[in-house]
Amino acid sequence: MLPLFLLLAATGAAQTIVLNTGTLYDGKGKVLKNQQIVIEGGKIRSVGPGKLAPTYDLRGLTVLPGWIDTHVHLSWHFDANNRLETGGATSKEKPETTVLYTAGNAWSTLQGGFTTVQSLGAPVDADVRDLINRGALPGPRVLTSLGQLNERTGDAEALRKGVQGYKERGADVIKLFATKSIRDGGGQTMTDEQLAAACGEAKKLGLRTVVHAHAAGGAQAAAKAGCTAVEHGSLLDSATLDLLRERGVYFDPNFLVLHNYLDNKPNFAGIGNYNEAGFKSMQEALEPLNAVVQNARKRKVKMVFGTDAVAGAHGRNAEEFIYRVRDAKLPAMEVLTSANSVAAESLGLGDQIGTIAPGFAADLIAIEGDPLKDITAVRRVVFVMKDGKVYKNVAR
Ligand SMILES: [Zn+2]
Repeated sequence: MLPLFLLLAATGAAQTIVLNTGTLYDGKGKVLKNQQIVIEGGKIRSVGPGKLAPTYDLRGLTVLPGWIDTHVHLSWHFDANNRLETGGATSKEKPETTVLYTAGNAWSTLQGGFTTVQSLGAPVDADVRDLINRGALPGPRVLTSLGQLNERTGDAEALRKGVQGYKERGADVIKLFATKSIRDGGGQTMTDEQLAAACGEAKKLGLRTVVHAHAAGGAQAAAKAGCTAVEHGSLLDSATLDLLRERGVYFDPNFLVLHNYLDNKPNFAGIGNYNEAGFKSMQEALEPLNAVVQNARKRKVKMVFGTDAVAGAHGRNAEEFIYRVRDAKLPAMEVLTSANSVAAESLGLGDQIGTIAPGFAADLIAIEGDPLKDITAVRRVVFVMKDGKVYKNVAR
């Protein structure tokens, strides 16, 4: 018979981790001072004043729940020629190459302070998600749509079948395209009937629905169809924002994706609609999106954190905080909370992640500086823990 402590050590149950913190944001908008966080079995057991010997002393840093990005494309990367490769179902790249890039993107994302992402999404995400869950790969917790449905999927019945297919293949969420890309004007593409069929079927199967929509028509149809979240929204007017609030639909404006395309223009230029007119549309969408976001806040729409991280953006997801605070003039604490408890709630994980409190997953990060005073502090992530395991610790 093994002594009890050895038995507990073998099962991992006895592994207690103690973090000393000076400044802690709880993920719901509260700032706490001089708290000790006790972690057991990958979960937070207690938060409060304490005198245990710390495993990690994070005083002098700002400690937050690990960030959540509700819109990424983990498989998108630049290939050996520095050109866009999406790694999707129709990709001609060798599967093993796509897998390695996707795993690399997952690692970069985690190192950047993001402990959960929703990838919207490619088939390869499933293996990456499952290997991360088994501890075989380092990466954030991954939820994925595995692919997308759009107006070309077919009629209402075809869309319902499409949703069922994704459910069977293990998707965590359904991604829909209700409008064109902003590079093609952003007009509505899926009909109200198509959206109602897709979001209705998803709801029946217990899946959330995330809808790409720039034009007001697409977003309104999504809200009426009971879809979960609207992405982008660069053309949303007051009436549409009010409808999103009434129906409890999350709004996820994505600034990083536009900046990322513009910052990495040579890597995309000449592919599909990444042409001069397309880049001009993206440049011109930035200022109106600031206004839409301010209007959404005024109208109390639930705004959630997502970046639409594509090739070139993985690991830089936190830049979205800077765009929303510096350019769209949103209050820093609101934006930080949108990547913690609000994002968790939008994913249906509001009682598991995104908050530092007993019973929640021990997903914790620490950054140098105070993001309430200087939002660029989000670039200085020096400590990352997910499920109680440390993946980065360069704090001095
Ligand atoms: Zn996207």
